[in-house]
Amino acid sequence: MAWTPRTAEVLRAVAAYQLAQEALAGEFAARWAQALAAVEAREIAGSLTELETEYGAAVRESAAASYALSVVFYRLVRALETGRVIGGPGYRPASSLASLWADFNRATGKRTGSGPREQLPVDTRNPFPAEDIARETRRAEEAFREQVADRVAKHERERPGREGSAALDDPALIAWEREFLESLKTGGSGAGGQIVQDGGRDMINNALQDDPGAIGYYRVTEGSPCYFCALMAARGAVYKSKRTAAFGAHPHCHCQAVPIFSRRYQLPDANAKFAGMWREFGGGSLADWRTHYTKT
Ligand SMILES: [Zn+2]
Repeated sequence: MAWTPRTAEVLRAVAAYQLAQEALAGEFAARWAQALAAVEAREIAGSLTELETEYGAAVRESAAASYALSVVFYRLVRALETGRVIGGPGYRPASSLASLWADFNRATGKRTGSGPREQLPVDTRNPFPAEDIARETRRAEEAFREQVADRVAKHERERPGREGSAALDDPALIAWEREFLESLKTGGSGAGGQIVQDGGRDMINNALQDDPGAIGYYRVTEGSPCYFCALMAARGAVYKSKRTAAFGAHPHCHCQAVPIFSRRYQLPDANAKFAGMWREFGGGSLADWRTHYTKT
């Protein structure tokens, strides 16, 4: 008997997944802010090594959590849409919608759904690539250099000399130092948060390619996405091909990739809303779309 995709449940899982990934980026940002709060702006050049160690560790830990969460999410959505369980990391024998929902609820720390205990048929294949820790480490180092180390070097060059006329307690100087620390907080959390969530986004995009049961993906956005992300979400499903188009995430973007396993999938309301706005816009340049989107 053909399986009927449980689309309402999928949409609940999608919403919870997006929020949980956004929360991982938020936890990373909080940890980075805490590391920065522990140093004095004037002494920051001497603390770069410790800061880089903390930054790299925080990125890797949150990215690993993002990766693990995306596997659990992928397996749940696949089962809800096809009635079959996929193997790979975290697979447990005798899985059912009850156990898959329980795994998902545990990973997100929230009870979003539950299901029947009947054992589901299994596709033993493992489409999930291992986490590429070396690549993640390289990306974290690069992000730290661009967003922190290079800017600190520039900031040090621009700081008024201590022998100069500016007193250390000059309010303008204090404000200048504070503003600089703020910019390190924002820049570091944007670049790092992108690597963190790419743990999940890349995993889903790679798994799709190696899973004959997957037909494509769509983009679920955060609550109020930027014009670019709204446009990407308006496209709806992106069917898979040998060359998968880049997802196009950017710093401070909390959009996620949602795998599709059934032609009878359903898009979240927001995607349909953006698609409607795009039709109403009627086509034009990206800059025109930006204007149209921002004033609507
Ligand atoms: Zn986005």
